[in-house]
Amino acid sequence: MEEELLPVSLIRQYFFCPQIPYINMVLHVVEPETESMISGRTSHEKFRAQHLPRNMKPRRIATEVPLSSPKLGLCGILDALVETVFGELVPCEMKNSSIGCGNPPLKDRAQLTAYAMLVEEQYRKTVKRGVLFYREDGRKVVLTVDESMRRLVIKAVREIRGIVEAERMPERKNLSACPSCWYNRICRSSSSPAPSAHRIR
Ligand code: SF4
Repeated sequence: MEEELLPVSLIRQYFFCPQIPYINMVLHVVEPETESMISGRTSHEKFRAQHLPRNMKPRRIATEVPLSSPKLGLCGILDALVETVFGELVPCEMKNSSIGCGNPPLKDRAQLTAYAMLVEEQYRKTVKRGVLFYREDGRKVVLTVDESMRRLVIKAVREIRGIVEAERMPERKNLSACPSCWYNRICRSSSSPAPSAHRIR
């Protein structure tokens, strides 16, 4: 029997905190959409040429591109796939946040790398870089798709699958994000599940 494909968004969640794929996929509890998520989803703002760095000249931009790979065990919808005038394929993601002058967080880099790997599988073409566009401050970051990030993504897929199949709760961590994390109410309570209104399935 074919394995169920995991959504790429779980890779991002995993790198934020490994508890979240467990809570989503085993306890079937997901965070309700926040205002910024709803505004991002309903703004209908699609990725356009102006969201690319100036030196990247697009020939074509396809938006909301469905991607899947049984080999990688992942599926998802990429915000945009750019084909440059030189024929290079560049996966692009738009984030409803800002990063100031810092580097993109690991969760965003891992998610974009996962999409890059899916593009390679589906289009049979090497992907060398991707673009992250942060809507709140307009930052455009070009990310090199390197071997170490690819290995991290493959390892994360394996680990998430292990968590889901064995229904194994990852070790709880005290992360700086915990106090403001929506899942705090679930993973910090000893007698788990969440309010029924937020349960899925
Ligand atoms: S509260 Fe902390 S440990 Fe729990 S899911 Fe959030 S970040 Fe992870």
